[in-house]
Amino acid sequence: MKNISIIIISLIIGLPSVKSQCTLNNSEVNSTYISTSGISEIDNLIKSEKIKLEQFFNVKVEMKTCNGYNGLARSSCASYNCNGTIELGKGLLLFEYKKKGPSSGYNIGKYMIISIMAHEFAHIFQYSHPEFRFKNSVVQEVHADMLAGWYMTKYFMDNTPGSDKYGWYYSSEGSKVRDIWTDMTISFGWMGDKAYWSKQHHGNYSTRALAFHEGWSFLAEREIKDFSYYLDRSVQIAESLIERFDNE
Ligand SMILES: [Zn+2]
Repeated sequence: MKNISIIIISLIIGLPSVKSQCTLNNSEVNSTYISTSGISEIDNLIKSEKIKLEQFFNVKVEMKTCNGYNGLARSSCASYNCNGTIELGKGLLLFEYKKKGPSSGYNIGKYMIISIMAHEFAHIFQYSHPEFRFKNSVVQEVHADMLAGWYMTKYFMDNTPGSDKYGWYYSSEGSKVRDIWTDMTISFGWMGDKAYWSKQHHGNYSTRALAFHEGWSFLAEREIKDFSYYLDRSVQIAESLIERFDNE
């Protein structure tokens, strides 16, 4: 419950947000590709994380860096052995890379970049699995946040000693991860917007924060480790989150 209360508090004090949305499958967008983000640590992180995300979501993706502040997931790609293309704006990458946890002060930039990648990979996964049907693009976006939240929870658990034991997140190792998670949830919520009428609407602060948190709630708190079980319920949960929170 600690996480949720901090989220509510941050809503009240109105922390800042940045325009950093992703675009779904929009072939009208013509991006200018660039060879580097300008920071080798970011370039290397994207390269190494791409391999892990491809394995997890069982997709092949072309990763591109481009100018601007947006992310984009296309179902098309230049090479034949590929499920889609992901473009990440340099402005978005540099902004997120500098991010410090609003609650803990820890550097969370690396994790934010991986989370944004996971959200875009989730779209490529959606494109490859037409059995997931979304009423509209907001449900699709919130669903992608939920899959990103699962991936990140798994990431933290895989990198935390003792995370295979019950209630691990109350241990000293788990405590830091829990603080980082709270900050991640808040920061993910910041990417939300209130443009309810727009085709680019992704969910507001609460909807996005809580969608991202769903993965933690299943995997870390309730220790439900079956991703298929999560997937089976995911669209319905996304719809329910939107109905409950995405209307203020
Ligand atoms: Zn998206």
